[in-house]
Amino acid sequence: MQDYLSPLLEFLRIDTTSAKGKGAEGAKWLRDFMQDRSVNAELIPWPNTNPYVIGEINVGSDRTLLIYNHYDVQPAEPLDKWDSDPFNPVVKDGRIYARGVADDKGTLMARLLKVIELWKAGELKVNVKFVYEGEEEIGSPHAFEFLSKFRERLRGDWLLWEGSGRAPNGAPEVVLGVKGLLYVELRARTAKDLHSMYSPIADNPMWRIVYFLSEVRRPDGYVNLPGFYDKVRWLSREELEYLNLDPELLAKAIGQEVKDGLAYVRLVSMPSLNIDGALTGYTGEGSKTVIPSYAFVKLDFRLVPDQDPEEVFKELQEVASKYGLELVKLGSVRPFRTPMSSRIAQALIRAAERVYGVRPVVMPNSPGTGPMESFSRALGIKEIADGAGVVNYDSNIHSFNENAPVEDYYLAMKWAEEMIKELSSG
Ligand SMILES: [Zn+2]
Repeated sequence: MQDYLSPLLEFLRIDTTSAKGKGAEGAKWLRDFMQDRSVNAELIPWPNTNPYVIGEINVGSDRTLLIYNHYDVQPAEPLDKWDSDPFNPVVKDGRIYARGVADDKGTLMARLLKVIELWKAGELKVNVKFVYEGEEEIGSPHAFEFLSKFRERLRGDWLLWEGSGRAPNGAPEVVLGVKGLLYVELRARTAKDLHSMYSPIADNPMWRIVYFLSEVRRPDGYVNLPGFYDKVRWLSREELEYLNLDPELLAKAIGQEVKDGLAYVRLVSMPSLNIDGALTGYTGEGSKTVIPSYAFVKLDFRLVPDQDPEEVFKELQEVASKYGLELVKLGSVRPFRTPMSSRIAQALIRAAERVYGVRPVVMPNSPGTGPMESFSRALGIKEIADGAGVVNYDSNIHSFNENAPVEDYYLAMKWAEEMIKELSSG
């Protein structure tokens, strides 16, 4: 049997912590690894960041699958929390422990090895392209520019996202999108701090923020902005059927009681408004009677397909100006969702059923945010889905003792194989 584990362990030994400017060595290793196996691969340097690695296996099909992964990792610190050296992988009790094994080198290598194997055996019936970046863990600041420039060379029918794995119930997980985000800060100020005896006649900036907040969000979580829910794409019956997770798992994950059986549905399908932080006035020990001259609050909206952060920002601006508040946009990401009826979603779902013998959990979109929409726009690819990966809910990604089960590494390979066969049939 082919040794699938050694190349992964070798790859894991290379420190590719993008936050520390490391990664070039990993990119070169990856390019060489592909070229050594006759894959048409190229390293593309980019100013002020880690190089991109792209590759292609053309089997003359009229269909192309583009596989996206990242070779960079999060900083391994704090090192004293690790049971073993993060860059010297160990296999213990059926799990591989190393920085990046789950996020995202394990998935990258499982897919790459499987595609090469199918190709060499003459069983690859769709073209496959690979695009690997080395700055995902610092927010992919150059990805849009890079992908737009290489749009022609990366052209494909489907994009397989970075990785997924198992849902909290152990079933394979398919993810078909991401939520969007609008992050804002509200500020208000007056000339100076005042004695609170002036309250009957003086303005307190924090009260204005409080009134603003109570206007834009009701106690039941409903966001009270004109048209806010107009573009929400509610889940279909089929989408609901595959979102088959026990809400108790969610309660355990967040350490809070979850009140109803639809918790997962709400988590995935509902937009929300959150207060991230607030600062004003006196917060020291004891009392100080003061009218603060300055107050601010940071807010984030999680948006669902097909809400538009720009439209939400405009509506928010209206309310902010009513209360004399300065509104600053700190960031925005558009939501994205690939339909469950799409070819790539169906291929991932059917392949998962065959390999794992259970119905996969299908997230119509992740509750989190990611740059799927900008990838889609840059590449002109409309079907993007995630699956065939090694990430578990206890993989400790971004944390210490990051790990992935060896078994899941082989299952991810099998899952990728079956998915590719599904994509090539018919
Ligand atoms: Zn990550």
